[in-house]
Amino acid sequence: MQYADYRRWSERATDWIEQYHASISEQPVRSTVKPGEILDRIPASPPEHAESMESIFADFEDIIPDGLTHWQHPRFFAYFSANAAPASMVAEQLSSAIGAQGMLWQTSPAVTELEIAMTGWLREALGLPPTLAGVIQDSASSSTLAAVLTMRERALAFEGNRTGLSDKGRIRIYATDQAHSSLDKAIRIAGIGQDNLVRIPTNEDLAMSSTSLAEQIARDRREGHIPAGITTVIGGTSVGASDILRPVLEICRDQGLYSHVDAAWAGSAMICPEFRHIWDGIELADSIVFNPHKWLGAQFDCSVQFLAGPADQVRTLGVRPGYLKTLEHSKVTDFSDWGIQLGRRFRALKLWFLLRAYGLEGLRRRIRNHVAWSNELRDRLAQVPEIEITSPCRLSLFTFRYVPSDASDPNEATERLLQTINADGRLYLTQTMHDGRFVIRVQVGQFETTRDDVLMVADIVRELVSVR
Ligand SMILES: *Cc1c(COP(=O)(O)O)cnc(C)c1O
Repeated sequence: MQYADYRRWSERATDWIEQYHASISEQPVRSTVKPGEILDRIPASPPEHAESMESIFADFEDIIPDGLTHWQHPRFFAYFSANAAPASMVAEQLSSAIGAQGMLWQTSPAVTELEIAMTGWLREALGLPPTLAGVIQDSASSSTLAAVLTMRERALAFEGNRTGLSDKGRIRIYATDQAHSSLDKAIRIAGIGQDNLVRIPTNEDLAMSSTSLAEQIARDRREGHIPAGITTVIGGTSVGASDILRPVLEICRDQGLYSHVDAAWAGSAMICPEFRHIWDGIELADSIVFNPHKWLGAQFDCSVQFLAGPADQVRTLGVRPGYLKTLEHSKVTDFSDWGIQLGRRFRALKLWFLLRAYGLEGLRRRIRNHVAWSNELRDRLAQVPEIEITSPCRLSLFTFRYVPSDASDPNEATERLLQTINADGRLYLTQTMHDGRFVIRVQVGQFETTRDDVLMVADIVRELVSVR
């Protein structure tokens, strides 16, 4: 295929996209294929000779859709939504055509400077202090890894990168059991060791106990360990729990530790001032991550990390071999020094399109609706016989379970109900273990979902419980 054919094929793709979106709500939300079914339909070897775009496109239409779980389906209530707002899709197409690699300022000044501008816009939209610097990472996992590596290096006076960890003491990082599994991965990759991720007990609202935190840090110091940092969560993945930041971040500051706040999902809601009490004290954080690619509407991937003092992270991760040296380095920002990846996509473009095409007011309206509708749904579900709400609506996330009146095991019954719901196809919900119970999560966050779509969950659950 030549550039000359680009218009034809992009028009063909646009037609497909239009058709896909028009019919998406009639499709089962979760793909129904069996493992290996798609793989079996792909030739085992690559073609030796060029194939026509016609046949490539035909195979795409024939093979791929069956194996898709529709994240843009208005009744996708599983995990957390990963939205693809249309304006952000257009920006992604342009970014893909430009194909720029934004590792250094010089490798495309617009990539770096729009990133500075857009993280500044978001910082203001979230009500964060103007002193924070922002960077776009691929995922919250990478942002958290960068923060954990920075915690480690700060605690070792930036010696770990050079000498390794073998003669160092135990580096300690503190979090609760509500932290996302990306923290466990970061601890592994950073060579800190799972045993040194110390789980601090929580209060009845699943927030970190600051008394236990202070005691644990003191105990670790007495035992000769090296307290390095604290990772808190705002809007945890399981049931949406949040730490109470202020007392925890004050301890962090007083103890000279480094703090990271994981608000990957809930951060987007902070464009609404009425929700900001949830992260009261956020201005004390050293590092904050939130994913515009979740609730805000930017097409995956797009994770923003805010840093109070980027110098620590740059000192931890910045590497500059001869082939990457540039003359203007001291005068510009080279974002590859701020993260794990060297190569960086032009992600700021989709934020620019998104924020302008919907405006903060439009984005706030969606989030407010989602929160209101999920509260309404929780009330309706609570009316369904044998359904028990198992965690409060935190922003737009709550959980429930099925407790059959015949005294059969609620965990098994709930798991079977979930399978029935997802096999039915009109909804997609996922589970979590909460307090030793198998519970079903409902999170409302899809960009195009309506009140009817959300309330339909109660009707469908009522229907499927009664046919069992
Ligand atoms: C989704 C999520 C993550 C992981 O996000 P990725 O961008 O997929 O790495 C981490 N923490 C929380 C609280 C999340 O909701």
